[in-house]
Amino acid sequence: MYLILLGPPGSGKGTQAERLCKQLDLPHVASGDLFRDHLKRETDLGKLARSYIDKGQLVPDDVTIAMVKERLSRSDCRGGTILDGFPRTQAQAEALDLLLQELGQQLTGVLFMAVPDDVLIERLSGRRICRNCQAPYHVLFSPPREAQTCDLCSGELYQRDDDQPETIKARLDVYHKQTAPLIKFYKGANLLHEVDGNIGIDQVTDSLLTIIRSLQP
Ligand code: ADP
Ligand code: ADP
Ligand code: ZN
Repeated sequence: MYLILLGPPGSGKGTQAERLCKQLDLPHVASGDLFRDHLKRETDLGKLARSYIDKGQLVPDDVTIAMVKERLSRSDCRGGTILDGFPRTQAQAEALDLLLQELGQQLTGVLFMAVPDDVLIERLSGRRICRNCQAPYHVLFSPPREAQTCDLCSGELYQRDDDQPETIKARLDVYHKQTAPLIKFYKGANLLHEVDGNIGIDQVTDSLLTIIRSLQP
């Protein structure tokens, strides 16, 4: 199963991907997590990506596609994967199609989580993520059991630099201009499944799992 979680920043892609991957035993491929790993290791790609991420802009397609391609070509993705945060542009969607073709695979479905902008701002402003495994939390909506500590790996929680009000606004603009057109693109390909992302975390997981089960061959 090759599934895409599509949605604006803060719609719950990371939160749901973590749960779905556990349920379905699939690897989680999150382009944002891959970039943050490069940032932490201070690689050349990390240095390039930082200049875009800090402004809330998208990292250029060529380097993003190359990074995800490398990840999807690894053996653990052979049986499928859950893509989170990729594709975000038309060019990335087309590159993904080609890549899956090369791998002899095809897209199973695209799960779109709809959440209004005012809710997204509230979610992103209170988001904390684990420095070690990047699991997402929220100070009010999804607090860790122990303050500042990841439930999964005991790593330290922190607030992303790009989860500041100015950058959040830029990211939402970028989403509406560059990523939202993919909704229509995947609708046209008969692959789009929309869920209400503005309900409780467990309920969203239930909606997604119901759809995914209906897609299984
Ligand atoms: P969020 O979880 O809020 O949607 P991500 O962690 O997915 O954010 O992405 C953080 C930043 O990393 C983005 O604002 C962008 O700069 C960069 N990024 C992540 N995925 C992509 C992508 N597919 N194409 C271009 N840039 C990306
Ligand atoms: P994305 O990966 O799409 O940017 P996240 O999964 O990181 O989104 O979620 C953004 C923030 O919103 C996190 O702080 C997360 O804990 C919180 N969150 C996720 N889903 C929900 C939900 N259904 N209701 C309330 N808060 C949520
Ligand atoms: Zn952790």
